[in-house]
Amino acid sequence: MKLLMCLQCHDIFNLSLEEKTCGCGLTRGKYIDQLNATYSGKHAIPLGFTNTSLIKAIQNQPTNGLGEPFTAFVIPKECATFVKEDEVK
Ligand SMILES: [Zn+2]
Repeated sequence: MKLLMCLQCHDIFNLSLEEKTCGCGLTRGKYIDQLNATYSGKHAIPLGFTNTSLIKAIQNQPTNGLGEPFTAFVIPKECATFVKEDEVK
């Protein structure tokens, strides 16, 4: 699952086929198809959740105590399936 974080307003949001924008409007992105996505904004940080690990954590949600961890990661600046668009429009 691909997400974006805006370092300006600190919003974190998932993507959809419709373009989404953070609260301050500087970070935006969308899926092009089920795998590929684009984003823009000089404060944008691309994030990923490892889907299998998230599903497992949901299935193992504890009743109390510590939370169930799952894997999230910062996507590399150069990623074939999550491409930063030219910031000049
Ligand atoms: Zn923002």
